[in-house]
Amino acid sequence: MATMHDDYYALLGVDRAASHAEIKQAFRRLARELHPDVSEEPDAGSRFRAVAEAYEVLSDPVRRQTYDRFGHAGLRSGGFSPMAADFGSLSDVFAAFFGEALFGRQAPTGGGPARGPDLAAHVEIDLAEAAAGTMLDAGVRVARTCTTCGGNGAAPGTTPITCPGCNGAGRIRLVSRTVLGQMVRTGGCPRCDGTGVVVEQPCETCEGDGRTLEDVPLELEIPAGIHDGQRIRVRGAGHDGILGGTPGDVYVSVAVRPLEGVERDGDDLRVRAVVTMTEAALGTTVSVPTPEGSYELELPPGTQPGAVHAVRGRGMPSLDSGRRGDLLVGVDVRVPTRLSGQQRAELLRLETGLGDDAYPGEDDGFLRRLKSAFR
Ligand SMILES: [Zn+2]
Ligand SMILES: [Zn+2]
Repeated sequence: MATMHDDYYALLGVDRAASHAEIKQAFRRLARELHPDVSEEPDAGSRFRAVAEAYEVLSDPVRRQTYDRFGHAGLRSGGFSPMAADFGSLSDVFAAFFGEALFGRQAPTGGGPARGPDLAAHVEIDLAEAAAGTMLDAGVRVARTCTTCGGNGAAPGTTPITCPGCNGAGRIRLVSRTVLGQMVRTGGCPRCDGTGVVVEQPCETCEGDGRTLEDVPLELEIPAGIHDGQRIRVRGAGHDGILGGTPGDVYVSVAVRPLEGVERDGDDLRVRAVVTMTEAALGTTVSVPTPEGSYELELPPGTQPGAVHAVRGRGMPSLDSGRRGDLLVGVDVRVPTRLSGQQRAELLRLETGLGDDAYPGEDDGFLRRLKSAFR
């Protein structure tokens, strides 16, 4: 990952006056270089993400200005979250930025319709929203076919020509001499970005990409009972396809913020209630946190330390069955540690009066139930 000290311009190898097109070109070049299919460097993946983060900032005029003036600190206070960190694979990152596959936006040999790339998005909800289900806007940045050039990237009135670098194949043989002899591998043609065609006079709207990036709302229904880290697939909401191909999908990963004092265990929720020794002996009402607000639970007289009370159906809804899990309330008992001489004497007198049969025995059914409630 980029550290706070890595200069974004240095990461991309451009100077501070670089134009948008130069920054974009530098990122494309680095992205292909650092792809693990091509690169033999072990840290290529993390370098790629650092470079993607740099590109994400420098390609956005507002963020770039902030970065120029205040550096990384300015971006942090602006609520910057490096989106590259959320992606599963490098190809996802690349697709997110350019709406195209890493090695060319159409099949190297074909040029027919192709499905649009998938896109990754990320949302965060709290536990109450996860319990009730919610609708939200996952806002995504998707590539749309450029309406000025119709998607071929050529200025109106011109057409792309067959790439002279690869004769339209999109891939070329790369020959290098090493101490072990001659190495041959094939790679994406750098001249046409693997598309097999080059645009001599680029369309001004999309700078020759054939696509423009648009921020669009994405209405997302999050089902009740969703778990942290689960992904929701939204079909057809991803990047536009090539030449009329179907659009890709959006995979939205959902983070569920934990609720303090509540531990989720599958569809069950575990909370702790702390009572005094006397409350445990006499019975009391405790208040425990749940996603739907605090829940009042009556503890019976004789509640034992470590007892777990299951409140059926007050856990999380199950995604599979629709039934709800349980609220499991574990009881901690506080025992006084500072007693006056008189209090000690009173406790001792009480204890003597109680005798052994006031307490549950080892073989008592109650204790066995208690133990089985422990998990
Ligand atoms: Zn265009
Ligand atoms: Zn080519």
